[in-house]
Amino acid sequence: MRVEFRFCPACGEPLQERMIEHRSLPACPSCEFVAWPDPKVAVAAIVQDSQGRLLAIRRGIEPGQGEWALPGGYLDADETPAQAAARECLEETHCVVEMDGLAGIHHVLTREGGLLVLAYSGRLVSGDATPTEEAPELAWFAWDELPELSFSSHRDALAAWRTGIPQVL
Ligand SMILES: [Zn+2]
Repeated sequence: MRVEFRFCPACGEPLQERMIEHRSLPACPSCEFVAWPDPKVAVAAIVQDSQGRLLAIRRGIEPGQGEWALPGGYLDADETPAQAAARECLEETHCVVEMDGLAGIHHVLTREGGLLVLAYSGRLVSGDATPTEEAPELAWFAWDELPELSFSSHRDALAAWRTGIPQVL
């Protein structure tokens, strides 16, 4: 769920609504803090093995728990998006993956706020896809055998990847 600031995280003052750049935002009356509604950033990985099959996982955690998705997750501040995509593949599936292209940039509005999903294409370098807590079921699928994916951003990214033209929404 979305975390709404009620007190200034810098100095502890109760926040007050203030008009900033033509919109009302919670802001601190004592210091410069403004609760900007920044989007979160996530990555998704479209991973192929040597036979051209695609890796999908059944998610072990929310959001989308129990549903199929591409490997992926939120970006950390100290990594590039491509590094994040490779890290998520390793954490979720134990596959070492090399990213080789951008499949698309997708903006989604969720209950939590704005979300940017950066989708990369990549290839399996080594490792066997092994179930993990985050992905208790996972498999390699031919394109026409892929299960329905939970997230619209993942479905859009796959469709764009198939055309070979990065899609920016
Ligand atoms: Zn403050």
